[in-house]
Amino acid sequence: MNNFGLNIWANKNFIIEDGEVRLNYKSMPSLLEITSKIRSNDVKGPIILRFPHLVKRQIKTLYNYFDKAIEENNYQGSFNAVFPLKVNQFPAVVEAVTSQGAKYNYGLEAGSKAELILAMAKTPDGTNITVNGFKDEEMLTLSFIAAQSGQNITVTIEGLNELETIINVASKCSLKVPNIGIRVRLHSAGSGIWAKSGGMDAKFGLTSTEIIEAVKLLKDANLLDKLRMIHFHIGSQMADIAPLKKALREAGNIYAELKKMGADSLSSINIGGGLAVEYDQHEKAHARNYSIDEFSSSVVFLLGEIMNAKGVEHPDIFTESGRFIVASHAVLITPVLELFSQDYHEKLLNFKETNPPLIEELRELNRLLNNANCIEYLHDALDHMESLFTLFDLGYIDLQDRSNAEILVHNIIKKALYLKSANPTNELEQLQTQLQERYLINASIFQSLPDYWGLGQHFPVMPIHHLNTTPLRAASLWDITCDSDGEIGFNPEKPLYLHDVNIDEDDYFLGFFNVGAYQETLGMNHNLFTHPNEYTVEISDTGYEIKNAVESKNILEILNSIGYDTQKIVNKLKSDLEKSTFITKKEKSDTLTKLETFLSQNGYLRTTN
Ligand SMILES: *Cc1c(COP(=O)(O)O)cnc(C)c1O
Repeated sequence: MNNFGLNIWANKNFIIEDGEVRLNYKSMPSLLEITSKIRSNDVKGPIILRFPHLVKRQIKTLYNYFDKAIEENNYQGSFNAVFPLKVNQFPAVVEAVTSQGAKYNYGLEAGSKAELILAMAKTPDGTNITVNGFKDEEMLTLSFIAAQSGQNITVTIEGLNELETIINVASKCSLKVPNIGIRVRLHSAGSGIWAKSGGMDAKFGLTSTEIIEAVKLLKDANLLDKLRMIHFHIGSQMADIAPLKKALREAGNIYAELKKMGADSLSSINIGGGLAVEYDQHEKAHARNYSIDEFSSSVVFLLGEIMNAKGVEHPDIFTESGRFIVASHAVLITPVLELFSQDYHEKLLNFKETNPPLIEELRELNRLLNNANCIEYLHDALDHMESLFTLFDLGYIDLQDRSNAEILVHNIIKKALYLKSANPTNELEQLQTQLQERYLINASIFQSLPDYWGLGQHFPVMPIHHLNTTPLRAASLWDITCDSDGEIGFNPEKPLYLHDVNIDEDDYFLGFFNVGAYQETLGMNHNLFTHPNEYTVEISDTGYEIKNAVESKNILEILNSIGYDTQKIVNKLKSDLEKSTFITKKEKSDTLTKLETFLSQNGYLRTTN
């Protein structure tokens, strides 16, 4: 059976049972069950489901593996982690991260002023805040305020000018000085499509010469005791562990050298993020070549080895992995609105009293096709179709005949594909690719899967039900934006096959998985489609609870957010309708009510099924 690569990307978080995708946790509700419950409250568009237990699972995994490696390597430093807010700043996510991480002292990382404010407000007492990214005097002053207010905050400087500003602020006020980290510019670079954060030409970090200068500046300002951390980040979604090892050797040696230069308070190495997530649904195309076990062991072992060789105490280890922590927690559920080739449905056949002989033959082939004859009959059908097209071009058959021929041949191919689905021939596979079905999904790729649009990042996708039957349609997915980029095309290298569902009679929901990292605030309001409705689902032994429902912005809210005076818009629409003639008062007032309802809904399609 086709399991859509669940065994590769799902990390046992989801299983298929009775033809439906279920959460593999406690009461094991099915995604369809949860979706149907939410939709029973007149919700129609795409929805995002969040599962806090999956955030908890990832945090626990990260800490457990590092603790294990520390014990096995007799490593003397501690393990610490912070969650980089840029990966997902939504309230329900930050809530899940901070509450599930509390017992580990899991902190937050900020890369902008707004994120820093969020970190200052949401970091549990005593846990770490780290600050990265480019900073001005105001942002640096904010970190003084955080330190003064009791936060355990470390500001990583990206350049000497930031350090000069810190020294300047410290000399002007008596606020507590935050801990200082130095981001080092590594010679070695990362790998993968996000690997622009490391390497000699990287956007961030200090060169060796600048690091020496930084120590001198700190010493002169009497602030060397504030230098606590060496930081690097070689890029997100590291495909290969080799560059990380190189980076660790480099950063580890820089750390040891600085200790020797008298940076006595220096106590930690922050290895940034980059732990990869498995997004692939097909065998032999895995996104990374290491496990969390190998990752944690390598980091701990290498740092221990370098420090032992240089006679330096083992530093505390910090990580800022974000994608690894939250990617799996969110699932995007999109209803399928239409299968385009249902234009070829058998019920649309319209025969005449007497049909051309080739049409009659196609009818017989269609009627008598079976497992034994299907390849032969298929060839006959394809041959007849060619002849019929020629007859049409020469004017011997009419448009109705041609339509019947297309429907019949389409059905014969579909039946053959079905009969031979266990082991299709090359020819059948090719036909399948040519006969692609286009599935229209009630969602925006720009809003909900921006990394697919911008980077070609594949996200696992599968129907959340109908899984007892074999999917046979080579599928391309079209979103409802009016943009030809809003499409996930069929890729014969990594084929997606979906079910032939009659959408007029039956629901068909697709789930996009591992969408919890980066997609939500990167998502664009192209065509003014907004962030979908979202729900936090807490699963217990006996059932599940749907919490923190946050509705998508409605039409007026989205117009307001880009600067329109929505009151003016409403007034204009209403007065135009009021002024119109030739309808009754009653119909006018009903229409006004209808208009108000439309304006209070989001922009996704409400086609009912
Ligand atoms: C983006 C970023 C991270 C998070 O990276 P992931 O790949 O999501 O783990 C960590 N640290 C810094 C400095 C970053 O810029």
